[in-house]
Amino acid sequence: MYDEIIVGQGLTGLLTAIWSREEGKQVALVSTGLGKIFQSAGVLDILPGEDSRFADLLEKYKLNACSRLTIYEAAKKYFQLTERIGYPYQGNIEAPITIITGSGNLKETAFYPDTIKPIPEQGHVVIVGFEEVVDFLPKYVKGNLQKSRPSLHVDTMTVSLGKGSSRTMSQLDAAHLLDQEKVCQHVLDQIKLKMAAKKIAKPELFIFPAALGFNNWRKVLEQATIQLQAAITEAPGMPPNATAIRLHDKLKKEAIKLGVRFYENTTIIGAKIEDNKVQAVITSANLEIKSESYIIAAGGMLGGGIEKTATGYKDKVLGLDLDHHGCYMSCPENVWLVGASNGMNVTQYGITGGVYSILSCYQTFTARKQHMKLGGLQHA
Ligand SMILES: Cc1cc2nc3c(=O)[nH]c(=O)nc-3n(C[C@H](O)[C@H](O)[C@H](O)COP(=O)(O)OP(=O)(O)OC[C@H]3O[C@@H](n4cnc5c(N)ncnc54)[C@H](O)[C@@H]3O)c2cc1C
Repeated sequence: MYDEIIVGQGLTGLLTAIWSREEGKQVALVSTGLGKIFQSAGVLDILPGEDSRFADLLEKYKLNACSRLTIYEAAKKYFQLTERIGYPYQGNIEAPITIITGSGNLKETAFYPDTIKPIPEQGHVVIVGFEEVVDFLPKYVKGNLQKSRPSLHVDTMTVSLGKGSSRTMSQLDAAHLLDQEKVCQHVLDQIKLKMAAKKIAKPELFIFPAALGFNNWRKVLEQATIQLQAAITEAPGMPPNATAIRLHDKLKKEAIKLGVRFYENTTIIGAKIEDNKVQAVITSANLEIKSESYIIAAGGMLGGGIEKTATGYKDKVLGLDLDHHGCYMSCPENVWLVGASNGMNVTQYGITGGVYSILSCYQTFTARKQHMKLGGLQHA
């Protein structure tokens, strides 16, 4: 018997598992597959797919005004965690930065890892591609960048990852290769040679694909910054982006280290409910898993927790009735919802955006603590 079962191992499931385990709870995390972090850019946006301010999120998701204060606490807790696990995030909810994507288009984001830097309005930048990584094309990136930053002076170059890297690679493959010191040095040496040959002097920023090391990203970033004497940014684009996979990897390792029990490749298809309380969740292999409380972090429609049918929405996890916004008509006392499990009102294009993911995990975390202190029932 667990204190808490979390359904889903996306950003919200992993964060909830870690924060609950830190409170001393016995936690199990059950998931069909991996979360959407794997397809994301690894930066946490306010509203997905559009430049926005926190006020826009409050209005669009119909959140109460307390959320403005709560997001600062939530961000602080998230930043502390990411610092501790060795992949620090930063950012200010009131002052999103403009970053470059792997296509050269710009977008705003609120919270981002150390490998991401803002794109300046003017000055001099160099875009560096790798011969082996064919979905990041410096000249194409430059074309798009200059549409929105016409005053920027932009140079481009392509370098090789060196011997043993002749095959076509994803950005993640390249990141693993760059973990090796000699590969990293080989790349930096080529950049310096090309800069000398092209007479490129003192750019303010180098733009790379999201591939600057995986486990050794800090060392790669440090070496590049020192040797190229400029700021360095990754430009996350086509998945898999190292920016995002590093986050998932570090969060999962932390959850395992803290003692969260993982049930992987396990789909919840229903629940035993008595007296308005879930007694157990039922897996597709007909196994019952029991807990005091249950957190649904199943990602809504895109994550797989909610299905759109001809007549409305269907809850694929507990099998309960949903209203026309995809929200539970009546939520059992010991069930809590995070992220897009809260229904379609907190999504845009079917997804929530990373800022809301963190906010909703933190709100659920603090609400549960408060109810436990008061000895009260736990409501979603
Ligand atoms: C392609 C793509 C790119 C994105 N890029 C960005 C970005 O750059 N910035 C940003 O801020 N946001 C981005 N998002 C949004 C981002 O994914 C979400 O904000 C957040 O990561 C969602 O996390 P989650 O934990 O709520 O859900 P998910 O990541 O969807 O996780 C859901 C989990 O629940 C599991 N699950 C579902 N049903 C069941 C079941 N019945 N039984 C067991 N397990 C189940 C799934 O296997 C999965 O592990 C992107 C989303 C997509 C789809």
